[in-house]
Amino acid sequence: MPYTHKFSDGRKCPLPAGKVVCVGRNYADHARELNNPVPDQPLLFIKPATALVAMDQPLPLPDFGGDCHFEAELAVLIGSPLTRAEADTTLAAVAGYGLGLDLTLRELQSELKQKGHPWEMAKAFDGSCPLSEFVAPEQLADVEDCEYRLLLNGQPQQHGQTRHMITPVSALLAYCSRYFTLMPGDVVLTGTPAGVGRLQSGDELSLSLANCLQVSAVVR
Ligand code: ZN
Repeated sequence: MPYTHKFSDGRKCPLPAGKVVCVGRNYADHARELNNPVPDQPLLFIKPATALVAMDQPLPLPDFGGDCHFEAELAVLIGSPLTRAEADTTLAAVAGYGLGLDLTLRELQSELKQKGHPWEMAKAFDGSCPLSEFVAPEQLADVEDCEYRLLLNGQPQQHGQTRHMITPVSALLAYCSRYFTLMPGDVVLTGTPAGVGRLQSGDELSLSLANCLQVSAVVR
């Protein structure tokens, strides 16, 4: 089934599936766990719309590139265009919040990084961005002070607290919009906290966002 954005309350989402703008190393604890320096500016990359899959469908892993890692991230669904926006205006353009996985072929990414090459083959392949349904923005009391969790086969694995982001959501959207106009239906993935790890066939993932969203996923 082709991917379409969905709201968790069953409302129809008219926004088309667009590009995904992602930020690397937006939580210092994750940068440290991979021995990466903490950047002084957000490190951006893009996944195309063909990377999107629904998280509640069995997740396909690629058969190339070695280990595939999960990175659980707060996902921001854009509702109106943002170009060179000021940070204090960006949250008004958000149509919803959800959870996404920034699937990463870690060994391939390391090879590409060593050669100084772009990361796309390791991070933007088909199916590399499973997304949950989205909740309306007003369901999250404060997106810049909320938490989300990922359990892998029942074990706590990642615990994100958005107040620990190096660049908070409103400023991150503004920064992205300086380089890439964010269009209705685009998604911004906001970085992953520590605790990333490898996925294997049959793994069960359970993710929750504050007290407003719960989603399960199975690796095919
Ligand atoms: Zn990521």
